[in-house]
Amino acid sequence: MSGNEPRFQAVHQISNRTVAPMETPEPLNKIWGCDVFNLATMEEALSKNAFKAIKKTVQTGAPLDPATADVVAAAMKDWAIAKGVKFFSHIFYPMTNVTAEKHDGFIITNSDGNAITEFSGSLLIKGEPDGSSFPNGSIRNTNAARGYTAWDPTSPAYVMQTDNGATLMIPCVFMSWTGEALDKKIPLLRSNDAMNKAAQKLLSLMGETEIATLNSSCGAEQEYFLVDINFANQRPDLLLAGRTLFGAPPAKGQEFDDHYFGSIPMRVQVFMQDFEDKLYRLGIPAKTHHNEVAPGQFEIAPYFEAANIAADHQQLMMTLMKKVAKNHGFHCLLHEKPFAGINGSGKHVNWSVGNATQGNLLDPGDTPHDNLNFLLFCGAVIRGVEKFGPLLRAVIASAANDHRLGANEAPPAILSVYLGDQLEKVFNDIQAGNITSSIQGDMMDLGLSQILKFDRDPGDRNRTSPFAFTGNRFEFRAVGSSQSVSGPLVAMNTMLADSLNWIAEKLEAQLNSGADQTTAVLAVLKELMDKHGNVVFGGDGYSPEWHEMAVKERGLKNIPTTADALPAFCEDSVKQLFESTGVLTLVELESRFEVYAEQYILSIEVEAKLVIDMAKTMIYPAAINYLAKLTAVSSGLSGMGVKLESSEAEKIVSLANSMMSTVDKLCIALEKEEFPSIDAHMQFCAQDIRDLMDETRLYADSLEAEVADELWPLPKYQEMLFIK
Ligand code: ADP
Ligand code: MG
Repeated sequence: MSGNEPRFQAVHQISNRTVAPMETPEPLNKIWGCDVFNLATMEEALSKNAFKAIKKTVQTGAPLDPATADVVAAAMKDWAIAKGVKFFSHIFYPMTNVTAEKHDGFIITNSDGNAITEFSGSLLIKGEPDGSSFPNGSIRNTNAARGYTAWDPTSPAYVMQTDNGATLMIPCVFMSWTGEALDKKIPLLRSNDAMNKAAQKLLSLMGETEIATLNSSCGAEQEYFLVDINFANQRPDLLLAGRTLFGAPPAKGQEFDDHYFGSIPMRVQVFMQDFEDKLYRLGIPAKTHHNEVAPGQFEIAPYFEAANIAADHQQLMMTLMKKVAKNHGFHCLLHEKPFAGINGSGKHVNWSVGNATQGNLLDPGDTPHDNLNFLLFCGAVIRGVEKFGPLLRAVIASAANDHRLGANEAPPAILSVYLGDQLEKVFNDIQAGNITSSIQGDMMDLGLSQILKFDRDPGDRNRTSPFAFTGNRFEFRAVGSSQSVSGPLVAMNTMLADSLNWIAEKLEAQLNSGADQTTAVLAVLKELMDKHGNVVFGGDGYSPEWHEMAVKERGLKNIPTTADALPAFCEDSVKQLFESTGVLTLVELESRFEVYAEQYILSIEVEAKLVIDMAKTMIYPAAINYLAKLTAVSSGLSGMGVKLESSEAEKIVSLANSMMSTVDKLCIALEKEEFPSIDAHMQFCAQDIRDLMDETRLYADSLEAEVADELWPLPKYQEMLFIK
């Protein structure tokens, strides 16, 4: 096949596609958690004592003795084998955003050559993948490959069903032989610990006597695009880079906002329902789904869970949604900006902290000015975002998210906190030494007798804020759609731990000097607001005035690219933060910087190579082909004494030449190998390489707008974006 043929075939096939028939759906209570080795399953399978021990570990993180681990392993194996499982896999989360699995059979053979199954506590607890190819940021030499995976009993094991088999999946941490964290789970668990310790200290200073273990919670809203698989298969950029590197703007994009919350296309709804049933089997509480702003864009949000479990579930969701989408003839794009000029995808990470005794400490109750614990925890978050804004920017930095942040659709690359009218006033009043007034939430009355009245929230929403208080939690809205939620959760938990420690120290001093509790709390919060209140901003985060004011008057940083953001990992305040809380050692922190920087450079280099390849082998030939047709017609006509206006051919020649000379420059730029530092290499990618890629695209997209449609090899935006 040549030229446009595959593209036209794709259009033809898609036009004739029918919605995949579904089996009759099973009721929720029949499928919910049926493939999960959860506490309910364990209670049935284990002795009373063993169950008590594992339950304590799951709920409080208490250590598990090896004998119980053996019993749990045996029960887990029997449960899985009864479901047809023959293999198990330790599943873990390396420093990239991916999920890693190493599958092993339960099988061993005995001296008679018979196959038997074996799975001991030690196999459950420890695995040893040859981890040499996982990024480790110079923690290990290439020849020192040993890495360990270790069972995380606090995140339930589950069975992954596939068409002709099933595998037992065991969530694990991943570390080097020398004991350093090589994954995203270890720091998350440590950050929960650090936050718990600091919160315990503060709550006891506040006079609380019974304080259960505190945990952070996370509810992640996942945005994504669906593109017909027949189109995706025609686009090397979508397949290899996850985004379109070329593509002229369509005549109609999202300008009518007619997709947002619109009626869900039938094919997509069928996919969603299939996907969600699979999630329910795995104990993932899928809760909302809807069309997003851009055509072809959707969102799914599960109900929030403990951060560690939510993070594992989020990874599993991302893996699964790609697989299930394929069964429905879709290619699922989790990239932050698959289509230029069209809204990108984020992942809003809703986060709160709480426990069984004090409840959600970010819930203000009806009168926030009376709720001292809430004010202290909320104040701690404000301080954290102000002090560690660049770190929060760094943990969401990626080549892909750079396309989204700072554009007028997503939160700006300046970290500020939105509190809502009521709460902002409370904190301003505290700073001014007057907390008596507060705006109460009032009744929302639409004046329509048939519509029931309901309580209006005390504050409006602000979709332009990267970090917004939303009633009983904070919503970190700048996280990228393809990213693991662990990095942001680690940063938030750790900065909170640091702030809670700071507050506890100040509060203790106040109380020791004889102040009563309310006076002491208000004095500490006043100091906190004086030092850090500049991060609170309720206005339009997209406006140029804010960008100027944030930097010039508030002293906040505007950090547009990953190359500018990642060096935050090397700042002294960040090193001190992670070391003092025990969340990451200096070696681990440095290795993270190296890994993320390397990922950034590699992603841009891969994209640049694709740009070169597609420009040379797909776009240039299409332009030449068109030119050949034009010139053939032109010379045919001139033989007849008729002249074809030549400006079109000249335009094509000029665009094609400009594109190819930019491609040459890009090739040369990519050959550069010597850089004084990794920072300099990142900057070179952010500026030189990206600029040349953008320039190539400009010429290519102009060609797309000129070349005959029948000769264009790549599916176009208007074809891909509107699902049929
Ligand atoms: P939005 O209206 O912001 O789009 P969604 O309903 O799509 O809200 O998603 C909100 C997310 O926040 C859900 O995952 C929800 O379970 C989660 N959430 C609600 N309360 C909390 C909380 N206290 N802590 C963490 N996450 C929460
Ligand atoms: Mg939502």
